[in-house]
Amino acid sequence: MAVSAQYFDGQSAKNQTVSVLEDGTNLRFSGDETPSTVWTISGLHAVDPPSPGQPYRLTHDDKPGARLIIRDGNFIATLVSRSSHLKGGYSKSDLSHIFGWVLGGLAVVAALGYITVALLPDRVAHMMPESWRNRVGKQMETSLVDNARACHSPAGDAALGSMIGALAEGTPELPPISVHVYDIPILNAFAVSGGNIILTRQLVETADAPDEVAGVLAHEIGHVFHRHPEAQLVRMEGVQILASVFTGSSGGDTLTSIAGLAALLQYSRKAENEADAYARETLTRASIDPIGLKHFFEKIVKLEGESKKVSGSFAALGNLFATHPGTEERIKEITPLPAGITAKPSLSDEQWKALKSICG
Ligand SMILES: [Zn+2]
Repeated sequence: MAVSAQYFDGQSAKNQTVSVLEDGTNLRFSGDETPSTVWTISGLHAVDPPSPGQPYRLTHDDKPGARLIIRDGNFIATLVSRSSHLKGGYSKSDLSHIFGWVLGGLAVVAALGYITVALLPDRVAHMMPESWRNRVGKQMETSLVDNARACHSPAGDAALGSMIGALAEGTPELPPISVHVYDIPILNAFAVSGGNIILTRQLVETADAPDEVAGVLAHEIGHVFHRHPEAQLVRMEGVQILASVFTGSSGGDTLTSIAGLAALLQYSRKAENEADAYARETLTRASIDPIGLKHFFEKIVKLEGESKKVSGSFAALGNLFATHPGTEERIKEITPLPAGITAKPSLSDEQWKALKSICG
């Protein structure tokens, strides 16, 4: 049965939707903008090992720069069960590749890098230089917002600054962040590399109280603190991304397309729990009531059932729970401020009004 997939031809940054069929020997795919293509299964390589719930990225000997990104779990399972070399990681042929590199002097570094990124993406994420994290983060932000307008107003910008200040109240070691609101027609928030955080206009306008936005912001700062975006970059781009630290080049297709970024920013349940825990602690220390975040999550669950389908390039990003999975248990975990702590509003009424209307 044919399944839908994303295809990057390795030449343009364009993300093409294709339909893929598998017949035991070949993968055949084509799409509106992709001519009919045949990739032999024996020539396929998994960019990273298949992992449940994660997109599976394939490349081919004939076209090493191209990527085919498949999300259909059954399709992936069938393909991998028939072709053990597609399990990724340390198959025999991959190992012989590594030994081939090792013969080439400098390539020792690449082999070590490969092993490092295969085993320790979280550790590697914490070792990345600040300048690199920022440069890549800016690029991710630019690609993700896809020419959407950055919303600014003097009073709105000041209110956002106050909110960050209120969050930092009890946590002076808050990681450096840069927060922007963009006029994007989905309800979501993203932390990308280097502490850059994106809030959408719809998110700000859907919130009924400043504590709701502060809660989401605290959660995104949790992703920044734990370097989740950077770890995902290492996980998905592998040694390519390490090479880019040294060469100053950018990462691959995931950095330049919304679909690639959507896959990259889809965190594991574990990462979501870590970001939630960070948010709970930060809010409590700042005396901001976490119930705001709870209300906001509950509202989104309700809206999800009624929401109109987003079309266009932002559809791949989905709403908050598409990129931040595990809704119901997560809502249950959010509890009010402990007894004895009096809640402080994260913004004054006037500041809240200014933030709500920052996009005009
Ligand atoms: Zn999250």
